[in-house]
Amino acid sequence: MVSFSTGVGTMRFLILLIGIFIFYLLLKNYFRNLQRQDRPIRPPAAENMVRCAQCGVNVPQTEAFFSRGEYFCSDEHRKQHQH
Ligand SMILES: [Zn+2]
Repeated sequence: MVSFSTGVGTMRFLILLIGIFIFYLLLKNYFRNLQRQDRPIRPPAAENMVRCAQCGVNVPQTEAFFSRGEYFCSDEHRKQHQH
């Protein structure tokens, strides 16, 4: 009888452990999905694209370097164009 009740206690403990483990996996998966959803909030296509005056590469206007009426993909190209 004693060994039987101990067995039930162990079973409950195991079920609790499995429950916590499943909960942990779900939580991990949930946060991973949240991070994935964060990325497409700023789609590159929706941004205003500008062309680098030095190399001709298209870059988002927010990431472009603007100087003397022209856009550049990098600060380096902005300096190269001025020299
Ligand atoms: Zn460039």
